[in-house]
Amino acid sequence: MRVSRFLLSTVKETPSDAEVVSHQLMLRAGMIRKLAAGLYTWLPLGLRVLRKVEAIVREEMDRAGALEVLMPAVQPAELWQESGRWEQYGPELLRLKDRHDREFCFGPTHEEVITDLIRREIRSYKQLPSNFYQIQTKFRDETRPRFGVMRAREFIMKDAYSFHLDQASLQETYDLMHQTYTRIFTRLGLEFRPVEADTGSIGGRYSHEFHVLADSGEDAIAFCDSCNYAANLEMATSRLPAPVHEAPREKEKVSTPGIRTVDEQAQMLGISFDRIVKSVVVIADDKPAVFCIGGGDELNTIKAARALGATNLRMAEAAEVFAATGAPVGFVGPLGLPSGLTVMVDQQAAQACNFSSGANELDYHWINLNWGMDAPLPTAMDGSSAGNAGAVFRPPVADLRTVRAGEQCPRCEGRLAIRRGIEVGHIFQLGDKYSKALNATCLDEQGRSIVMTMGCYGIGVSRIVASAIEQNNDDKGIIWPDAIAPFQVALLPMNMHKSQRIRDAADVLYSELQAAGIEVLYDDRKERAGVMFTDMELIGIPHRLVLGESKLDEGMIEYKGRRDAESQDIPLIQAVEFIKARSG
Ligand code: ATP
Ligand code: MG
Repeated sequence: MRVSRFLLSTVKETPSDAEVVSHQLMLRAGMIRKLAAGLYTWLPLGLRVLRKVEAIVREEMDRAGALEVLMPAVQPAELWQESGRWEQYGPELLRLKDRHDREFCFGPTHEEVITDLIRREIRSYKQLPSNFYQIQTKFRDETRPRFGVMRAREFIMKDAYSFHLDQASLQETYDLMHQTYTRIFTRLGLEFRPVEADTGSIGGRYSHEFHVLADSGEDAIAFCDSCNYAANLEMATSRLPAPVHEAPREKEKVSTPGIRTVDEQAQMLGISFDRIVKSVVVIADDKPAVFCIGGGDELNTIKAARALGATNLRMAEAAEVFAATGAPVGFVGPLGLPSGLTVMVDQQAAQACNFSSGANELDYHWINLNWGMDAPLPTAMDGSSAGNAGAVFRPPVADLRTVRAGEQCPRCEGRLAIRRGIEVGHIFQLGDKYSKALNATCLDEQGRSIVMTMGCYGIGVSRIVASAIEQNNDDKGIIWPDAIAPFQVALLPMNMHKSQRIRDAADVLYSELQAAGIEVLYDDRKERAGVMFTDMELIGIPHRLVLGESKLDEGMIEYKGRRDAESQDIPLIQAVEFIKARSG
């Protein structure tokens, strides 16, 4: 491609509305332009990268035996009513009406549409298992579209859906997709981690997210420094040392005027955080609930919602705390809460002894409380006596706290590290959630009609482009991994508009490189060398060839890799082979 025939729209200044480096560089390099919030046009340079990502995803999905389809972006409301998601999905779903006043939505995902297709097309176990995918535009009316194409409203996803006779078959395809994703992200040249994840609103039992590691990532992930355990912070657990066991002491109510925080409580009472159990009041699906966790711990609201089976969960406001417990904020505790109020205790806090907590009374705390003696005894979640067992109230125990870096891995002796990640892929075992709702059945070997079992597998194709930049950039601009670079080589002839000799040599090399299947961006502009260098570095072309008079006299050309500190001279006649070897 000759730059004179291309739309190279580079910008020097960092756009003020772009917070993360990938968004800044995509705008500066002229890869994307904003149309409206969360809506972007892909310019020719950006589209070349997007297409390469797509091609790798497609190749690997094909290799895994998945079949490509293309479903409509607009979907009829009836299907979503059948699955129950028309009511459930909320304002992220863009709803529209046609000229006959029929309701539709712009698909944020395609479980309903594929299940509808398959219930019509697949009749027999002989056609199973099968896996269908598409690479297609989705729309989600995100609360906060941001970071450019990273969290857009309209974006490109690869979504796949598999259908099975039973769970064992689903597990096989799920494992194959796990391997396929690993191949895809490896080929893309990204540093990534598969992590155990929450299944969220899509439903189902079991899921993994694939995260590209980057400081700007919106998600925190915990992973072990010695085994392959990795989990989303919403799921991660750790093994903590059991608290030192002591003989229970006599409980005592102490005056703690004005104490509102755990810090103040610890300081005033001269105790450490592991001697404090704090009680966090939340509103879960419009009802109050109290969670008791360690003084130094943070309530993980996703774990808390999961433990309650609640869809929505938020912190209670001061008035709600008082209405639910009769105590002002800062003085709630497990002893003497109104009966009927839901209480849960974190598994670590459930082991505390001689602890301090609020006395459900303004300006008072207890010290030396002990579960079972003073406060109601908590029981394990899976214990048969969980909840209100007989006369004695036993709050259930669950994992409710967020793990911290340095804690012990739940699987081995290793330590947990916490890093930020960008979710680029997500695989789920859906089970029969959609197939049951939409009655997608087929006949098994005995001729019985059975509800199919499903899996689903997403990749954020457009988000990958931004994630790759987050991982590969420097102060000069983007540094593309070879596999997804818009062009492999930048060919920069010096003063070709003055020197016919340079022009001829550059033209010849340009054709030779192209003939060898190498994508070249040939800078034939009448620009100063500095401008060419700056542009090519900004747009991240991995290999640069500079053709100048004096080197040409010696039959040499200058080469520099985008990550190299220094350039080197190579014989002009070997340039094609040299680039072929380097660009893999
Ligand atoms: P997130 O937690 O980031 O909102 P999600 O859990 O809603 O993601 P899925 O429904 O699993 O995402 O969608 C599959 C993939 O699509 C995600 O792994 C992500 O890479 C991508 N994706 C989701 N939402 C967006 C968005 N608003 N913009 C770009 N890509 C997205
Ligand atoms: Mg989302």
